Amino acid sequence: MTTIEGNLQQVRERLARACEAAGRDANAVTLLAVSKTFGPEQVADAVAAGQRAFGENYIQEGVEKVLALQALLPGADLEWHCIGPVQSNKTRLVATHFDWVHSVDRLKIAQRLSEQRPEDRAPLQVCLQVNVDGGANKSGVAPEELSVLAHAVATLPRLRLRGLMCIPEPSEDMAVQRAAFRRVRELQQALTDQGLALDVLSMGMSDDLEPAVAEGATLVRVGRAIFGHRPRKEPVTASAAGSA
Ligand SMILES: *Cc1c(COP(=O)(O)O)cnc(C)c1O
Repeated sequence: MTTIEGNLQQVRERLARACEAAGRDANAVTLLAVSKTFGPEQVADAVAAGQRAFGENYIQEGVEKVLALQALLPGADLEWHCIGPVQSNKTRLVATHFDWVHSVDRLKIAQRLSEQRPEDRAPLQVCLQVNVDGGANKSGVAPEELSVLAHAVATLPRLRLRGLMCIPEPSEDMAVQRAAFRRVRELQQALTDQGLALDVLSMGMSDDLEPAVAEGATLVRVGRAIFGHRPRKEPVTASAAGSA
């Protein structure tokens, strides 16, 4: 068994336990394997262990991996999710190569993605990223602006709005973690009550998938618990700067 296969098994067991504890069906939560910074071979190991959906943060790197996997495993029916920030000059790459994007937080980006989605592909599946704790330098739409954005995105012809995504501040306190996830679920419920048909809550990562599942996550994005520690540094963020 490869390490990745063993890790995947453990993550699936964690997910099953979290679903059971929450009284939810074990199939209610999709596992997205976040393969950023890892190579095509590691993705292929995960595919061999039964994993099908992969998440990438950095668009250029993600596109290279999509193409590498098409060459490595032709005919494998993989699903690629863009989960990182999307700048205007990268929308065409995302629209061309990805199946999903979880990190839309501005109408202008959504409009470009819709215009650039190739006709021969299914609509791009979209989640709106919500800045649930209000950190000023964080990505995501402010909760107060979410409803207007969601209704506008829902009208774009080549996108299909599916739900919300969040990355709450890490916390040791389970109650604090759950409160952030609950807030996003309530925001989603409010949009549903306004007539939007949303069915995806993209929330929970390696360290906080249990509280996310307890609050209704339908998709968890798990990197390190599957692939191990990332081999190279990620871009420095405000919270990472200053730590050792
Ligand atoms: C890196 C990343 C993940 C995975 O995080 P882990 O802690 O490695 O599980 C999930 N979502 C987003 C948006 C990420 O950037």
